[in-house]
Amino acid sequence: MSASEFQSTDTIAVRAGIETDTQYGAITPPLYLSSNYSFAGFDDKREFDYSRSGNPTRQILGQALADLECGFGGVITSTGMSAIFTALQLLKGGERVLAPHDCYGGTFRLFKSYAEKGLITLDFVDQTDEAALIEALDKNPKIVWLETPSNPLLRVVDIEKISLLAKQKDALVVVDNTFLSPVFQKPLLLGADIVVHSTTKYINGHSDVVGGAVIAKDEKVYEDLKWWANCTGVTGAPFDSFLTLRGLRTLDVRIQRHAKNAKKIVDYLVKSPAVEKVYYPGLEDHPQHAIAKKQQSGFGSMISFKLNGDVETVKRFLKGLRVFSLAESLGGVESLICHPSTMTHAAVSLEEQAIAGITQNLLRVSVGIENSDDLLEDIQRGFEHAHQPSSISSEQISVVA
Ligand SMILES: *Cc1c(COP(=O)(O)O)cnc(C)c1O
Repeated sequence: MSASEFQSTDTIAVRAGIETDTQYGAITPPLYLSSNYSFAGFDDKREFDYSRSGNPTRQILGQALADLECGFGGVITSTGMSAIFTALQLLKGGERVLAPHDCYGGTFRLFKSYAEKGLITLDFVDQTDEAALIEALDKNPKIVWLETPSNPLLRVVDIEKISLLAKQKDALVVVDNTFLSPVFQKPLLLGADIVVHSTTKYINGHSDVVGGAVIAKDEKVYEDLKWWANCTGVTGAPFDSFLTLRGLRTLDVRIQRHAKNAKKIVDYLVKSPAVEKVYYPGLEDHPQHAIAKKQQSGFGSMISFKLNGDVETVKRFLKGLRVFSLAESLGGVESLICHPSTMTHAAVSLEEQAIAGITQNLLRVSVGIENSDDLLEDIQRGFEHAHQPSSISSEQISVVA
């Protein structure tokens, strides 16, 4: 493995593996689909022997992400969930995990199922509540899991502060950095030990690959992760790595444009009488705005907001949209909108949703890179549709008439 000679995020992403082909001098690195590699001779293994263990295309992506996150090495996995699964393999039986109560649904399900089987001990904690966090740390977790900003309410936690506290307990700090990407947040520079990504989202950015990555700050942890990924067989497919590397090249320009569009949409939403509340770390009244400003170099392009109205208002609003697609997932070039209660968080009981602040009038937006005027116009069209008389029931119309 060789670390990039470049320092800046945009150059690392653009130049990863460029001009490394020794055969023809290809500018972009070729895709190696071969499942296996010949030995140079008896007992003389080359760099790669079998693609589950190692693959040249996947290796370029792994190193590129490690360089972007300022880590030692990166393991590329089949999905974001298998990246999270790989990080869990660092635990011995029964060791404790301290995770955020509002973490990604798949992470929640995996941790909970592992705990139910007795494989780990688990505490879900509101990590923005300092007293609760300290109390949970006193139980000596082996892994402290962070996800910031959180989904869907974009709560932010202080990576540096929690990492310091975790270090006193000898815990490993893992940060799910999917929502911001290394362009806007570098957890390993803030004291974390491991970063995980669902590369399905911003890293690939084109909604055409499912993948993951787990990146370690130091060599020993990286070797362990790599060993477990090979052992359990969760390593990513070469073609997926090839596509993800292609998507990664434009990460910086995409992220900048995503954020620029998001800012315009937030500015519009906060002024609109159709909106009850906007959740965005870039807003000064966001409870952790100061932390976001300190540890992020941008506020990202995920926005949540509550419409003034009930679930029927939400349905009419969504029906009025023509540009935003009603879909889960995030981080692609196209704008998406979702209703967390019935979509991303449908597996969470209504009671637990209420505790997490997920209400029927809450919507989550993944802002794409379309022309911002088209996006604003679309939201306006949605608001008009949400309040248009034709969508009022006939009984109500007779009253109005
Ligand atoms: C999507 C997502 C995951 C899971 O990734 P997959 O690629 O869908 O397996 C994990 N964490 C966060 C924050 C995500 O958004």
